[in-house]
Amino acid sequence: MKVGKPEKLIVNGKRLDGRAFDELRPIKIKAGVLKRADGSCYLEWGKNKIIAACYGPREVHPRHLARPDRAILRCVYKMAPFSVKERKKPGPDRRSVELSKVITEALENVVFLNLFPRSAIDVYIEVLQAEGGTRCASLTAASVALADAGVPMKDLVAACAAGKVDGEIVLDLFELEDNYGEADLPVGIVPRTGEITLLQMDGNLTREEFEKALDLAIKGALQVYELQKAALKEKYGGENGGEQ
Ligand code: ADP
Repeated sequence: MKVGKPEKLIVNGKRLDGRAFDELRPIKIKAGVLKRADGSCYLEWGKNKIIAACYGPREVHPRHLARPDRAILRCVYKMAPFSVKERKKPGPDRRSVELSKVITEALENVVFLNLFPRSAIDVYIEVLQAEGGTRCASLTAASVALADAGVPMKDLVAACAAGKVDGEIVLDLFELEDNYGEADLPVGIVPRTGEITLLQMDGNLTREEFEKALDLAIKGALQVYELQKAALKEKYGGENGGEQ
């Protein structure tokens, strides 16, 4: 259920939450927050609150899914019933199936799956509170959880969206902008290689607008990347190795 449509999304050159066009919401990332998972991450991104837990490499169940030459990666995105304004019916729906798929695909070519034949790496993502942009936030958290589990990867995947709101190209849409803006462009990147592993578009953009939004989203994702690395350094670089 959507919240009411505001008359304008940009007032006096500022967005409704007071941000400049190229400004991210505040982001906090903490690696290794769950004792029983092999790796985990808690992330707050604006009012989004997300937990990701990684298990594996481990035995594959059901066994027929096992691949002789590599591990399988399964990311499962779920929204808690209390994560949105109107209670969300628990259980899978089209949207969570789509998000699980795109998040898995965004990480599949980054993890060195060939090192773990006949095994599975699972990442469970729980959205505790949603405020727009949960796929980018979830992908960001999932990649920190994988790194925290010690799963070998080319690099972290960092994500951020840009879009068009009241005719302006803006970074990191929050819920109202996401629901009532003209376009949303979530992007996931592998900073070390320059690859783009997530690219979706909702709404319409001209070619110039698309290029501007893509450029802005990549710049946002690079800021997110620094926060991901800092979270891992905080856990592994410090004296106490982080508490769980
Ligand atoms: P993303 O979270 O990646 O932006 P969507 O564009 O599908 O994905 O969703 C935008 C936002 O709409 C979500 O972040 C959430 O705040 C809200 N939303 C999504 N699904 C629901 C739902 N079932 N009920 C209420 N709000 C929802």
